[in-house]
Amino acid sequence: MSSSSLFRLPILNSALDAIGSTPLIRLDRIAAQEGLKCNLLGKLESVSPAGSVKDRVAKRMVEVAEEEGVLVPGKSVVIEPTSGNTGIGLAMACAIKGYSVIVVMSQKASVEKETAMRVLGAEVVRVPIGLSSGSRLTHTTVAKHLQQTIPHSVILDQYSNPNNPLCHELGTAQEMIDAVEEDARTPTRPTSGKVDVFFASTGTGGTLTGVARGLKKAHNPSAKVIGIDVKGSLLAVPPQLNEPYRGTSYLIEGIGYDVIPAVLTREPGMIDSWVKTGDAEAFAALKLLLRLEGLLVSGSSGSALAGALMWLKSEEGRAIAGDEGKNVVVLLPGGTRNYIAKEWFRDLGKNSEPSMVARQAVDS
Ligand code: PMP
Repeated sequence: MSSSSLFRLPILNSALDAIGSTPLIRLDRIAAQEGLKCNLLGKLESVSPAGSVKDRVAKRMVEVAEEEGVLVPGKSVVIEPTSGNTGIGLAMACAIKGYSVIVVMSQKASVEKETAMRVLGAEVVRVPIGLSSGSRLTHTTVAKHLQQTIPHSVILDQYSNPNNPLCHELGTAQEMIDAVEEDARTPTRPTSGKVDVFFASTGTGGTLTGVARGLKKAHNPSAKVIGIDVKGSLLAVPPQLNEPYRGTSYLIEGIGYDVIPAVLTREPGMIDSWVKTGDAEAFAALKLLLRLEGLLVSGSSGSALAGALMWLKSEEGRAIAGDEGKNVVVLLPGGTRNYIAKEWFRDLGKNSEPSMVARQAVDS
């Protein structure tokens, strides 16, 4: 590798061309601490131009809608219900392409996300937290109401749009396949040459189901794909897994849901297992990503790693965890920008207070 760069990159036409091709990074220090022999790898989506895995979805939904004539430049208004990151991706894509954007999201979503959308030119509408799925004030219901009243407005709808999983099948999964196959050509470690296990924390389920298809279709039919669902959400299968936590609230954003999105129901059987994780496990795992790997990633990345570690230590995962050649990928969906002022995030830095020596040096 040259000292200056890994790849020679061409000049790109816009930030949209910088979406995808995210790095796959060895999480060796975490693997060693947790006693794992397999290759533990993190797919780092925070390097995407607007900061998350959802940039891929926003780009593909907008571009396909343009091709189909659903979006008309200079005329259409894009409305989207989101927990935030799809809204930020859409705000970026629409800033470049010249569409107005209205994002509808819950009060739970961080102020940092709202600021990111607003500075990119989007309008943000907030709905109350903790509504039942039948309420007329949920983010999806309010988005539909706005769409009925605003001329030339379109909801691209990440919860049902096939381009959500498709961008992961064609992009996210393919990039992982290319990386492990390339690594196997001149291996520096034992490797199966395949992606053997994939973990993703789940919101719409687009990442999970799209990557599952991409991996199982042509690359490795026996790849295991494990969904991580937050305690308090109802996405895990079988549904009994969710029951002990029904009504539990959680701080982590971007994952979990109280209705199963069409994107997930369309692919029954693609997901091999589900693991439930709560805030405490996710924050502990996020701390490992921060302190051992230097990765400034989201709470949902902590959830994904927490679920991965739980599964790898379970009856089902133990053999893979102990196998030196197995490639185990954890998707790290976003970065810390959206949560930087959150108390739970600042708490992760608590034992990084200046030492007595440092304080005395400043005081003197
Ligand atoms: N993490 C974060 C931070 C997210 O914003 C999202 C999407 N809401 C996810 C994970 C889950 O991704 P998906 O919608 O593909 O399930």
